[in-house]
This record gives sequence, C-alpha cells and structure tokens, in this order.
Amino acid sequence: MKAGVFYGKGDLRIEERPMPHAGAGQMVVKIDYCGVCGTDVEAYNYEIVKPVIVLGHENVGTVYEVGEGVTGFQVGDKVLCGPPSYCAEHCSSCRSGRPNICDTGFARTAGIGGPDGGYAEYMLIQDVAHTMVIHIPDGVDLKDAVLFDVICVSLHGLRRSNFKLGDTVAVSGTGPIGLAAIQLAKAAGARTVVAIGTNSKKFPLLKEYGADYCINAKECEDLAAEVRKAVGNPDGADVTLECAGNQPSLLNCIHHIAKNGSQVILVGILGEPLDKLVLAPVIPREIDLISSFVYTPEEIEIYLSMLATGKIKFPKMVTDEVSLDEVVEKALDRKDRTGQLKILLNPSL
Ligand SMILES: [Zn+2]
Ligand SMILES: [Zn+2]
Repeated sequence: MKAGVFYGKGDLRIEERPMPHAGAGQMVVKIDYCGVCGTDVEAYNYEIVKPVIVLGHENVGTVYEVGEGVTGFQVGDKVLCGPPSYCAEHCSSCRSGRPNICDTGFARTAGIGGPDGGYAEYMLIQDVAHTMVIHIPDGVDLKDAVLFDVICVSLHGLRRSNFKLGDTVAVSGTGPIGLAAIQLAKAAGARTVVAIGTNSKKFPLLKEYGADYCINAKECEDLAAEVRKAVGNPDGADVTLECAGNQPSLLNCIHHIAKNGSQVILVGILGEPLDKLVLAPVIPREIDLISSFVYTPEEIEIYLSMLATGKIKFPKMVTDEVSLDEVVEKALDRKDRTGQLKILLNPSL
C-alpha cells in the first residue's frame, strides 16, 4: 500500500509499505479521507512531530480487519479515528473524565506522537481500547465527519466556558476553528455572535455561518467601541473565544473584547512568545484566561449527532481534495494559501 512517510523538516516521501494486519486488540481501517491539519503543516515545516512516521490524525474510513478480542466493530463499519488516545485509568485526568488531557495521550496517538497515521491507504489501530475510534452514524457524510478535529476543538472551547443561553459571544479568528465556533455558538443559543478577523473578504462566509456582525480588527479605529456597539451593551462580550492563535488576537480579546469579569477561552494554540502581554491592567478586571485542548469522545458523539440531525452544517469548509502524490505541493509546503480552508487527503485518488 501507499503511505506518506515523514522523514523530517521538508521531507515527506510517498512509499510502498506492506499491508498492515490486525493482531489481538487491533484493527485495520481503510482510509476514506484524512484531514490535513495545521499541525501537519507545522510538522512538515518545523519538525514539531518526531520522524520517522506516517502523518495523519484526522481519519475517517471503513473497518477492513478486526483483530481478536476487539468488540463493537465489524468489517465494513464506517468509523472516525482521531486524537487524543488515552490511558483510560492510570492518570488522574482520565479518572476524572478528562481523557483529552491524559498524561500519555499524545504519545499513543497515531500520526502525531505514536504509531503511524492516516496518510496511507490503510491504517493499523494498534490499541483499539485506548484509541478514539467512534462509529459514524448512517446519513452523515464522511466529508463532514472528517471535520471532527476542527469542529470539536471549538465545541470543547465553548463547553469549557460558562456560556449561557442568550449570552453574547465574540469569536476572534476566522479560520476553520473560528468558523466552527461561530456556528456552534449560534446553534447553542447565543443572542449575538460577533466575528473579529483581519480579512473582510471572508465576512460573507462568516455571516453564512451565523455571525451577526463582522469587524475587521485591522481596519476599525476603535475595536472596543465597535464590539460594544455590536453586542448592544457598554460592557463587552459575555464570552470571548480566541481562535486565531496569535498575539494580536489575544491582546484584542483581553483588552478590547471581553467584558469585566468574563472569560477568554484560549482555543487557538499560541506558539509564539508573548512579548506584549502586560497583565497589570487585566487583573483588576478579573478576566479569566481558560485554556482549552482538543476534545473528548463524548464531544465527538455530540458533533456527530448534531450533524446527523441537521442542527449544524459546514458548507464550503472543505476547499480542496488532494491525493497522496499531491499532498506536499498542494497542502504541506508554505505557500500562500489564501482562500483555502480545510484540505482533505484522499489516498484512493
Ligand atoms: Zn488536527
Ligand atoms: Zn490518562
């Protein structure tokens, strides 16, 4: 079978690999789609994932072989398989119902820290009992299901907040995670959703996803005043989701968007050093900075059931479908990717 093997910075090779076989407690999945994650792009360009590994952690596919002792799955089942895996019982996070922050979760996760992932025609799930493998309900399009990694990051972020029906929600950042957050906040009953971004060309799509107001942070003169006008009160947003993962967005959230005593949920991953964050003006306003990391199996189930019942939908989120041979050129190397949102790898192409 063909696989996309990551050998280090700027080096991903398409190789012929032996077909995997399912031993006890294992399963082989034929990959239908694998989402190209921002993490894969970072891995390819900055080697944040340890080589040598087959990349790909946003997997949907068809069960191909079920190993001895695995229950609940049959050949032909449609499943999604994603991060994080978990120990299930040995760490206090898992014991307290928070497997997303399992001490050893990412070291077990295929395609990112553990075994080989889904940039391949077939993937071996090495330890089904400790891996997020979830049935995809009938009627759910696999191209929607594969968006779980993006959508559920936002879903978890909103669930980490103290959001209540009727709250005003501000979303800073308009990539796939911000888009998802807009629609989820709307579906959850937000009174007003304000999207803050830096590219006005995206605003029609943001409105299609449920944003009531869109503000261009670079072009408006007084962001705080614009946000207050949009949410209809002199205080600011009740709940603020930082989804851009950069310092200007975080500073906007803290200083100009969130109301006193509210939460800023850190949904975006801020990898850059923060050199402009001064907390002295923030502390007297009791702004809570809440970190939010990936999602739980339960949140995947919520996502799939909301999709199946039509409560949420994500048109135009997938902008490209590429083959294994095209994945470097069309998805991983650092070109200008304006206009691209989610890229799916289809190993059958
Ligand atoms: Zn991902
Ligand atoms: Zn654990």
